[in-house]
Amino acid sequence: MNAMTWLRCGAWLVLASWSFVAYGFVRTLLHVIDPGPGEIALVLGLSLFMMFLVAWFTVLWILPEIIRASRARQRRDRGDCPWCGRSLRDSAEGVCPECGPLHLLAGPAAAVLVRRCVLVFLGAWLLGAAAAESWARLDERSFRREVMASTLVDDKRPRWWPSWGSLQWDPGTGQVEVISLR
Ligand SMILES: [Zn+2]
Repeated sequence: MNAMTWLRCGAWLVLASWSFVAYGFVRTLLHVIDPGPGEIALVLGLSLFMMFLVAWFTVLWILPEIIRASRARQRRDRGDCPWCGRSLRDSAEGVCPECGPLHLLAGPAAAVLVRRCVLVFLGAWLLGAAAAESWARLDERSFRREVMASTLVDDKRPRWWPSWGSLQWDPGTGQVEVISLR
């Protein structure tokens, strides 16, 4: 893997990890246990707001194209071939002796890059959130198993990171509750 691939993977991982933590944070804040579709949609929506704090990481994903386009613009302004830098003063209009017809070499259009950014951003957000929801459900399911196996003191234990507070079993209602959110 070259440096750019590492950069892209790193940027994507930061976005997805942030989404994981943000989703877990909002879910805990709303005291949600085993959420239905409506509650999941609410947590998703609020976690999306928190995603905008790290949205600029998405730009790292298309950094190679941005650098390439800006270098090409400088060369074109000098009257050189945008891609190899060779002078085009003596060559036919729009054709480089090295690279051939220049219009065939143009990088992705700005709209394509923007669409790529949006897809990377949404993909990281949704995957991070899906992982956080699965993780929290696993926490709650394993808590129920621990209650059934009676391995807990007072029928309660701390939640798994990134959630906080504790889960408690209420024998009266037969429900799991979130307590002591601190
Ligand atoms: Zn050229």
